[in-house]
Amino acid sequence: MGLTTTPCSRTSGRPGTLVNMSSTELSAKLFADACTVIPGGVNSPVRAFNSVGGTPRFITSGTGYWLTDADGNRYVDLVCSWGPMILGHAHPAVVDAVITAAGHGLSFGAPTPTESELAAEIINRVAPVERIRLVNSGTEATMSAVRLARGFTGRTKVVKFSGCYHGHVDALLADAGSGVATLGLPSSPGVTGATAADTIVLPYNDVAAVEETFAKFGDQIAAVITEASPGNMGTVPPLPGYNAALRRITAAYGALLIMDEVMTGFRVSRSGWYGIDPVEADLFTFGKVMSGGLPAAAFGGRVEVMERLSPLGPVYQAGTLSGNPVAVAAGLATLRAADDAVYAALDANADRLAGLFGDALTGAGVAHQVQRAGNMLSVFFSDTPVTDFASAKASQTWRFPPFFHALLDAGVYPPPSAFEAWFVSAALDDEAFDRIAAALPAAAKAAADAEQPGA
Ligand code: PLP
Repeated sequence: MGLTTTPCSRTSGRPGTLVNMSSTELSAKLFADACTVIPGGVNSPVRAFNSVGGTPRFITSGTGYWLTDADGNRYVDLVCSWGPMILGHAHPAVVDAVITAAGHGLSFGAPTPTESELAAEIINRVAPVERIRLVNSGTEATMSAVRLARGFTGRTKVVKFSGCYHGHVDALLADAGSGVATLGLPSSPGVTGATAADTIVLPYNDVAAVEETFAKFGDQIAAVITEASPGNMGTVPPLPGYNAALRRITAAYGALLIMDEVMTGFRVSRSGWYGIDPVEADLFTFGKVMSGGLPAAAFGGRVEVMERLSPLGPVYQAGTLSGNPVAVAAGLATLRAADDAVYAALDANADRLAGLFGDALTGAGVAHQVQRAGNMLSVFFSDTPVTDFASAKASQTWRFPPFFHALLDAGVYPPPSAFEAWFVSAALDDEAFDRIAAALPAAAKAAADAEQPGA
C-alpha cells in the first residue's frame, strides 16, 4: 500500500466503460476518470484521501453497516456518511419513505404538510427550539443563523473557535478544523479580508479568552458560534461547564449563542448534545441525521429571534429546494425509527469500539487517547488528552495513515483523516466487531512502527 497522495493530474479523457478488475483497480480507474471531470476527483475534499494517501474507494452500495466498493470489496463502515447514517445504510423504513415520497413528486416550490411534521419532531426533541427553518446543507444553516444573529442584534462581529468547522461559509472558514487542516490552509483564498475581519477566532475550551474578547468588543459581537461538541478537529468535547460559560458570557453582553449541532444533533442522543449538556442557546443548527442521508438541514431557536426571518421579518433567507419532500421523508423516517433502543445500541457500539481501540493500541505500546463525545469518538496518538486544535495538531498525526490503511486493507472503513470523528451505526453486530477486532492488532502495530517523516 503506497501512502503517497494519488496524483489527480489527468486533464483529458472521459470516464470509460469498466470491466471487473481486482483489488482496488476499479476505484483507481474511477478516480482517474473522475479527475478529468471533477476538481480533485471528488465533491468534498476529505474524500480524496489526501492526508492518508492511496486510492479513494468508490462506493457502489451500502446495506446496514456494510459498504461495497466498485471492486467488490466490503468494508465495515465507521464513517456513516460523516454521521447521518445512525440506522445503517438502506434502512427499510427510510428507503420505503423515500420511495413513497418520490412517487408523489420530487419538488413543488410550495409548502407541503410533512415539512411541519419534521419541524415539530425537532422542536419536540430540543426544548429551546421553538421555530425551525429547513435549508439544504449544514453550511446554509450556519450561514443563515449568523445572518439572523447579525440582523437581530444589529452588530457585526462573530466569535468562532479554532478547530470548529461550521461548513464552508466565508466568514466561518478561519481555522476551521478537519477539511481545511487536512489541506494545510489557514483559511481559504477567495475569502476577502473584509469578510474575515468580522470574525474573531479564539482557542477552544478557553473561557478566559472569551471573557477577555467580550471585555474588549462586547458591544460589537452579534454571536458566538460553537460546535456543541466539536468533531471537526477529531472528537474534542467541551470541558465541563464550557458551553454554560459561553451562555453566561453571551447573555451578559446581549450577544446570541449559536450551538452548531449539525454533527451531534440527533446522533449523540435523541436531543443531540443538548440531551447531554442542556445549555439553552438562542439558535441551533442541524443537519446530517435529521435528513437521513439526503440533502437537508435546519436552523431554529426562540420565537422572537426566528420571527425576524422573512416573510415575517426583514432578515432574508430562502431556498428553491428547501423542505424538499423526499429529503423531509428520509429525515422523518430516520428520526421516527431512532427510538431509545437505537440510541442505546449506538452508545453500546461506541463503548465496544473504544474498548477494542484501547486494547489494541495499549497492546502495541503506542501512546494514544480514545476521546469520546457520546457515541462519537476519535483516536489521537498523544500522551495527553486533546482539548483544543493546538493539542490536536501537536499529536502524532503521522501515525494515523498506516493505522488507517491497515484497517482499510482488512475491510474496515475509517475516516480518512486524523482530524475527524469516527461514527458508529446501530446496525453493527458481532460479525462487524469480529472483523474490527481481527484488523486492529496489525493496525495498532503499524501505528506503533510508524516513523515521523523527517525525523
Ligand atoms: N457544522 C458542522 C458541525 C459540521 O460538522 C458540518 C459538516 O460536517 C457543517 C456544519 C456543514 O454541513 P454541510 O457539509 O452539510 O454543509
